[in-house]
Amino acid sequence: MVFPNLKINHERLHADFEQLSQIGLTADNGICRMALSREDLEARAWFADRIEEAGFLVHDDDAGNLSGILLCDNPKAKTLLIGSHLDTVQNAGRYDGAVGVLAALESLRTINEAGLKLPVHLEVIDFTDDEGAWQPMFGSLSLTGRLPKNYLRDANGEMSSFRAALVRAGINPEHVHRARRSPADLAGYIEVHIEQGWRLERSQVNIGVVTGIVGRSSYLFTFHGQAGHSGTTSMWERKDALQGAALFVTRAHELVRNSYPEGVINCGNVEVKPGTRTIIPSEVRVTVECRHVKQTLLEEMERALLDLAHECAQACYLTVMSDRFGHIATAMMSDSVIEAIEKACEQLDVTYTRLASYASHNAQVMSTFTESGMLFIPSVNGISHNPAEFSEWEDVVRGTNVLMHAILNLALR
Ligand SMILES: [Zn+2]
Repeated sequence: MVFPNLKINHERLHADFEQLSQIGLTADNGICRMALSREDLEARAWFADRIEEAGFLVHDDDAGNLSGILLCDNPKAKTLLIGSHLDTVQNAGRYDGAVGVLAALESLRTINEAGLKLPVHLEVIDFTDDEGAWQPMFGSLSLTGRLPKNYLRDANGEMSSFRAALVRAGINPEHVHRARRSPADLAGYIEVHIEQGWRLERSQVNIGVVTGIVGRSSYLFTFHGQAGHSGTTSMWERKDALQGAALFVTRAHELVRNSYPEGVINCGNVEVKPGTRTIIPSEVRVTVECRHVKQTLLEEMERALLDLAHECAQACYLTVMSDRFGHIATAMMSDSVIEAIEKACEQLDVTYTRLASYASHNAQVMSTFTESGMLFIPSVNGISHNPAEFSEWEDVVRGTNVLMHAILNLALR
C-alpha cells in the first residue's frame, strides 16, 4: 500500500511549533527548558493537552517519558515508537528535539484522520532529559533498562537537587527502573532531528538518512611536573606540566586530522596548579572527548592518544596519568529503518543522502533495544545549541512528511 498523496497538515504543525516556542523563551530569543525545570514541565503539560486534543491516549511512565498512543485494533500488536525530546540545553534554539516530537505528533494525527488501519500501535514519545541537565538520555536509558543503579549519585549537580527535581515532576526516584519495557513489545524506533551540522546544506540535499551515531569516550589526563621559582629555574631544567599538556593538545589535534579523518576530539577544559604567575606549573589536568563513527577506529584513536600523552610527558620530563570517565559505544542504525526512510524519500520525490551523526541522540540508546533509525533535516549554517539555531520551515514540513511515510512503510512492511 502506498499513499503518495497523503500529506501532513503544515499549518497545524506550524501553530504547534509557534506555541511550544513560547515556553521557556528567554530575553535574547533563546529557549531554556532544562529537564525537569518549571519550563520543561510546562512544555510537557502543553504537549499532554495536544495529545488529548488529538484523541490519543496520554501515557507517562516511571521515568517521566511522556507519550501519546494511537492504538490499533489488535490489542496484542507491537508498538512503533516515534520520538525525540522537549527539553533543551541552557539558552538553546527552538528546533533541537522539538521538531522531532511535534513531527511525530503531526504524523500520527494525519494517519489517524486518514482512517488508515495499521497492524501496529503508534506512540509518540518525549524522552526525559535528553540533554543531560541531570543525566543525559535519562528517559531512553530507563526505558531500555540501562540506567545505572547509582544514577542519582553520578548525575550532574547535587544528588539531593536531582531527587527533588524528580519528585517535583511526579517521578519517584526509587521507581524509575519500572519504566523498563520489553523489546518484544516494540516494532522499532524512528526519530527526525535537525542535523546540527552543515553537510546537508552544503550539498543541497533535503534529507540525511542516518547510518550510525558516533561513539564517545571522555578522558582526564593529569600531567605531573615540579613546581619551581619562575625566575631562578633555568629554562633547560624545568619540569613544566603545562608545557607537556600544551604539546599534547597541539599534537593530538594533528594526530586526529592526519590519521583519523572521520574522528573528532575536543580538549575542552584545562586546570593548572598551582596556577600562579610566579610558579612553574606542577600539575595540569586536561579533559579530552573523542568521537568516531566506527567503534574499532574509536578504540584505536583512544590508544593512539594515550601513547601520545606519554610521549609528550616524557619529552618534557613529566609523568602522566589517564582516567577514562565516560564512554558510549558507536550505534549502528537498522537497515530496515534506513530502507523505510529512503523509500519514503523516493515516494515523495525528495533528495537524500546517507550520513553518520556526530551528536548523540535517543536513537543511540534505543538501537541497543529495538530496530532504530533517524533522519535529519538541514540546519542553516549548522548552528545548534544556540538561539540562532534555524531550519527553513519547508525543510521541517518535508522532514515531517518523510517521517510519516517512513512510519507507514515500517508499519506495513
Ligand atoms: Zn536533540
